[in-house]
Order: sequence, then C-alpha cells, then structure tokens
Amino acid sequence: MTSVKNFDELNVPTPSLGVLKERYEKLVDSFANAQGLDEELSVFQQWQSLDDEVSTWSSLTTLKFSQDTTDQVRKQENDFKDELMPQLQEYDVRLKKMMLESEHRAAHEEKLGKHLFNLWEVDVVSFDPQIQDELIALNKLAAEYTELQASAKIEFQGETYNLSQLRKFSGSPDRDVRRSSEYAKWSWYTEHGEEFDRIYDEMVKLRHQAATKLGYKDFVELGYKLMRRTDYSRLDVEKFRQEVLDVVVPFCQELRSYQKNILGVDELKVWDLGLFAPEGNPEPKGDAEWMVERAREMFHEMGHGLGEFFDIMADKGYLDLDSRAGKAGGGFCTSFASEKVPFIFANFNGTEGDVRVFTHEMGHAFQYWNSADYEAGDYYWPTYEAAEIHSMSLEFLTWPHMEKFFGDEDAERFRMLHLIEGIIFLPYGVAVDHFQHMVYENPEATPEERRQMWSELEKKYLPWVDWDEIEHGKNGGRWHGQLHIFHVPFYYIDYTLAQACALQFWKKSNEDFEGTMKTYKKVCETGGSLPFQSIVKSANLASPFEPGCLSGSIEYAREVLKPVLEG
Ligand SMILES: [Zn+2]
Repeated sequence: MTSVKNFDELNVPTPSLGVLKERYEKLVDSFANAQGLDEELSVFQQWQSLDDEVSTWSSLTTLKFSQDTTDQVRKQENDFKDELMPQLQEYDVRLKKMMLESEHRAAHEEKLGKHLFNLWEVDVVSFDPQIQDELIALNKLAAEYTELQASAKIEFQGETYNLSQLRKFSGSPDRDVRRSSEYAKWSWYTEHGEEFDRIYDEMVKLRHQAATKLGYKDFVELGYKLMRRTDYSRLDVEKFRQEVLDVVVPFCQELRSYQKNILGVDELKVWDLGLFAPEGNPEPKGDAEWMVERAREMFHEMGHGLGEFFDIMADKGYLDLDSRAGKAGGGFCTSFASEKVPFIFANFNGTEGDVRVFTHEMGHAFQYWNSADYEAGDYYWPTYEAAEIHSMSLEFLTWPHMEKFFGDEDAERFRMLHLIEGIIFLPYGVAVDHFQHMVYENPEATPEERRQMWSELEKKYLPWVDWDEIEHGKNGGRWHGQLHIFHVPFYYIDYTLAQACALQFWKKSNEDFEGTMKTYKKVCETGGSLPFQSIVKSANLASPFEPGCLSGSIEYAREVLKPVLEG
C-alpha cells in the first residue's frame, strides 16, 4: 500500500457549485436514459466516484478548519463547504430515488446488497430541497458552536489553557487543583451560557421546522431517520435506557462509593469524579511522539494487518495528535474517499485519556481501511452505533499491551480505570439521549426549561453528581460542553449501544484472544454493508435491545473489579 500519498500532497481544488451541479444533472439524465441493467450500473459507478471526489474535498476542508479555527482562509473555505453541501444533497436523493424505482431494483439489490436500499429508503424521506435553507443555517450554527468552544482561553494558575488542555487537571491528585480548575472551566461556560443557549435554541427551532415541513410531528422521528437507523426504533432505545437505569446505575453507585473511600473525602464533589486513585490517575510515560512509537510496536505485535496500517498513518502524516491554541477540541477519525485513507485528529493532553483516544480512533481508522473498497460509498462507514463497536472494542483488545504506555507499575491500574470509566459512562450517555428526546418533543421549551430538563435527568441517571457552588452545573448547563448535542442530534446513545457490544468483546477476548481478534477483523471488513443488529449478530454478540444484555457484562466486570473494590 505504498501508493498512499503523503497527507501534505493531498490537494483538492475548491470545486465550483455550478460545475458540480452540471455534473450531477448529467448523471440524472444518463440514468433516466439508461438502457438496461448494465447502463444503470455504469451511471451508479460514476455517481459514486463523483461523491468520493466531493466528500474528499469536504472532509479535507472540515479537517483543515479544525486544525486551525483562527485561519481566515480555512474558515472561508469551510463556510463555503457548509453552503455548498446541502445544495448537492438534492441530486443524491434524486439518484437514490431512481435506483429505488428502477425496474432492475432486484438485480441491483442482488449485486449491491439489500441494506443499501434500506438506507436509501430512509434517506429519501428525510430530505427535500424545501429544507435546504434550514440545513445551511444549521451548518452555520454548528460552525459557530465549534468556534465558540475553540475560542476558550482560560486563565488557570498563571497559564492560559483551552478546554481540552484544562481537562488534564481533573485527574490531579491535588484536590484543590481539581476544584479550582473545575470552577475555572465552568465560569467560562457561565460567561458564554447565553450564547450556547441561543445557538441551541435556534438549532432546535430550525430542526423542528424542517421536520414539520417534511410532514413529521416533531424532530425525533426525522432525527432517527437522519441517523439512518433502519432496524430499531425509539421504543427499543427507551428500553435500553431503562436497562441502564436498572442494571448499571446501582453498580455505578457502588463504584462511586468506592471512589469516595479511596480518595478519603467526606463528600464526593463533581471535581472528584475523574480521579480513582489518591496518587493520581496513571499517566502515559512519554509525550505524543513517544506514544506513536509505542503504538507502532503494539499494533505490529497485535497482527491482523494493524501494524502495516499504522505505519502508513504515522509515516505519511495522517495523525494530528497534539493540542494547540486555536485547534478545535475533541478527537475524531475522518477519511478521504478518493485516496481510501483515514485521518486521526486528537487533542493529547498528557493523560491516560490520550491512550484511550488513540486506541479508539485507530479502531475507526482500521475499520475504514478494511472497507474502503466497497463499490457503494454508503458501505465505507457503518451507521454510528455500529461504527463505535470497532473503536470501543479496540480500546479493550489493546489491554494486553498497556504495559508499553504505562509501565509494569501502572498498566493494571489503567485497565481497571478504563473498565470503571467505561461502565460509568453508560448512565451519562443515556442521559444525553434522554435529554434530546425531551428537547425535541417540546420544541417550544425555553432555554431555562431545557436546563431544568437536564437537571432532572442528572438526578435520575447521575445521582452522585454534586456541583457544590458551581453555578453553571447547578443550573443544568453541563450539556453545553457536549458537542454531539449541537452537531448531530441523537448521536450519543450510539456510544452506549456500542459499549454494550465492546464489553462483550472484552469478555470474549479474555477467554479466546486470537479467536476474538479474527472476529474483530471480520467485523471491520463488513464495514457498513449490514445494519447494526446484523453486524452484532455476525460477531455472535447479544443485541443491546435484548433484555438482560447488560447484566452479563456487569456481572463479569464486578468479578474482575472485585480485588480492586475490596482492596
Ligand atoms: Zn468513536
């Protein structure tokens, strides 16, 4: 695979909207005039490669803006992309409709897979040119949110930090440092609270308006369709949230009281929640560059092509790991379809979280690498809940190699912490999901009422959260920091559904590591060619929607954590 270009050489010229429209129009005409199956397929292939070209430019533009949100040229290009993309969607939908209505549909399904057509059935009822204006406005608001978050310059202990960099202190063994950094962070949010509320309020109203224009009662149903969920409904999700509440929340209560004891504090405050050892959470023993080399060794030892793939990512410039001023927050994996290569974006801050982000995003990248050859672009990536299986499972599959990053003294501590945090995440994840259902079912609610909704859910799912005198948290504003709520509605339960699967992968890997790795690789190769529950089934995992799916994993975790909890 030496044919992969260096990242620096990836240069996609800014397209012209007029030219693109013409090219898509031409495809629509060609399909309308196609004689027989083969001609239709040929148009399909041309369409896919045009989509690849456009999505490569779009990914690169988003990435470059995220790498430096203060660069005006990058910002302008990103704004242009946000305007342009919704205007092309119309053509994709027209072509999808033509394929769906084709007299050769059965033959197309035979060749390309039924799932593609199920996805398109959902796509064609969730877009119409009459909601283009809403989509463009939503893109602008999303970029505004990104900029606002990236603009944070927080003074702390005589230095200036952005939000990602400041997070480092939540794991400090010094309680005073934890407390004051938490105060510093949330006062920044209080200062900008009205802006966050305004951005979200506009987004909710625009989404509701788009949904009603398309004939839906509210945005929830449309939101599920936009997430391309073809094999489960909000009722399944509701049952899963209840399962978390019944099975996971009580265990988390135990974990929190263990945490209180081990930290030796009278009351567990919000600034204590990120720390599970009085001496501080384990930290990787080197900087980003050092970690890249450890990761290289690890992936080579793991086999199944991970090592060779990692070499390409590291040596050809497809990793951007350091946190910098002006760089957007968070971590993600994106891809360039024309080159069939992914890219990992992160904000390393010297904590154990860096190792998690690394193994997580590599899981996404490796899946893409293994499924970028599908004929249908819709199969490059699975739907989000399935996509997170690859990433969250790789976090667990790399467990045996954690000595490389943390040394013999801290590796086991890291593993226990990872497991505890993985479980503790579940109630937060479902709270974020539940919140969004409430928000979109009540589109007329005021920002104040939304904050109350959050506070209510926090009491239900996260009863251990004690904000003390932190105003922003007490006022139900924690979700302002949760990008997904703004950018991709209903994208969050996905992490919890995938975690329910990753925990099963973890258990299986402890019983038969090589066998589990083989299944993992196979799931990566499946890419997006199947819907969520079929992917889960193909890996012999229980679906998160089956009753009792979480109990087995929680029981097993309880056993593994027993020596720690009983200390
Ligand atoms: Zn992910």
